[in-house]
Amino acid sequence: MKWEENVRRVVPYTPGEQPEKTGIIKLNTNENPYPPAPGVEAAMAAMEIDKLRLYPAFPEKTELAKALSEHYRIGTDQIFIGVGSDDVLSMAFLTFFNSGQPIFFPDITYSFYDVWAEVYKIPYEVKPLDESFQIRPQDYTQPNGGVVFPNPNAPTGELLSLDMVEEIVRNNRDVVVIVDEAYIDFGGTSALPLIEKYDNMLVVQTFSKSRSMAGMRIGYAMGQPRLIRYLNDVKYSVNSYTMNTAALALGVEAVRDEAYFEQCCHKIIQTRTRAEQELARLGFQFPKSCANFIFASHKSVSAREIFERLKENDIYVRWWDKERIKNFLRITIGTEEQMEALYQALEKIV
Ligand SMILES: *Cc1c(COP(=O)(O)O)cnc(C)c1O
Repeated sequence: MKWEENVRRVVPYTPGEQPEKTGIIKLNTNENPYPPAPGVEAAMAAMEIDKLRLYPAFPEKTELAKALSEHYRIGTDQIFIGVGSDDVLSMAFLTFFNSGQPIFFPDITYSFYDVWAEVYKIPYEVKPLDESFQIRPQDYTQPNGGVVFPNPNAPTGELLSLDMVEEIVRNNRDVVVIVDEAYIDFGGTSALPLIEKYDNMLVVQTFSKSRSMAGMRIGYAMGQPRLIRYLNDVKYSVNSYTMNTAALALGVEAVRDEAYFEQCCHKIIQTRTRAEQELARLGFQFPKSCANFIFASHKSVSAREIFERLKENDIYVRWWDKERIKNFLRITIGTEEQMEALYQALEKIV
C-alpha cells in the first residue's frame, strides 16, 4: 500500500513482563517492593471525586512543584514535571537534540534512548563501556549533538563518580547533557548541585523506583530556568494536560514524608548487601551496584537457563538476548522474604 511508504516506523521499547498471574515474585522491572508513603494512601482516600470534572492544574503551579522545590532547595522554575521520567526524557530529546549531529550514550544502557532517537530521527552513536562495564568520560569529548546517560547506569548498576559526571558536562558545554538519575537514591550522590554551575545540564529523576509509585507515573527534570522554559514550551505544544489531578496530589505526600523515604531506601540497600553475599556464594559475579538491582552472571550456568528455570518457579527476573550482556541477569532487589525465595530457587538451579 502506497500510504505505508510514509509511515513513521519504529521498533518500540520492550518493557519487562507484567504477568497477569498473581502470587509470583516479581524482580524484573525494578519496582519498589514496599508500598508508597502512608500519606499517599490517606490522600487517595480523601480525594474529592468532583475535582475530576476539571482539567488539572499546570504542574509547575502545583503543590507538587512546591514540595519538590522545598525538598531539593531549588526554585519551582527549575523543575519540569512529566508523566514518569520516560515522558520527561522523551520531551528533553525532542527539545534539545536538534543539531543534526549524533548524540552520544553508552552501548549498554537504558534501552529507551535508542528508541527515542529513532522515533525523533536523531542521529546517535553509542560509546562502549569498558571491560568492567564503566562509562569512560574520555569517550564523550568528540563533537556531538548532546549526551545522555543514567547514573547509576542501567542495567549494570554502576555509579560514575561526581567528578567524572562533571568532566563529561565540562567537556560538552555547547550541547545539553542529560543525567538520568532514576536510581540515584539507592546509594549514589546526585549531580543536582552542578546545575547551578552548568546551564547546559539537566538532572532527571522519578517517583517510580525509590518512591514506590511506578503506577502513578511521575518524573521530573531539574536544571536552570532557561532549560526548563524550553522544555515546557515543547511539552505545551504537544499535549498540555499530561499530568493528571490524582498524580499531582498524591506525589506531594511521597515527597513530604522524608523519614519513610529514607527508611525504604535504607532497607533496600541492606537487602542488596545481603544479596551480594548470597549471590557470590552461589557462584555469581557482578559489578558493584548502587541501584535497586544487581546485574549478575553465573560462572557455569547460562543466564538464559537460570532465567527460564526461575520463571518456572514463578520468580521473574530480567534477561536480554543481546550482545555483551547475554550471560547476565538483572535482578531487582525485593523484600527480604522475596530474596530468600530467590536464593533457595537458585540453590537448586546452579
Ligand atoms: C525506570 C527508568 C526510567 C523511567 O522510569 P519512569 O517510570 O518513566 O519514571 C528512566 N530511566 C531509567 C534508567 C530507568 O531505569
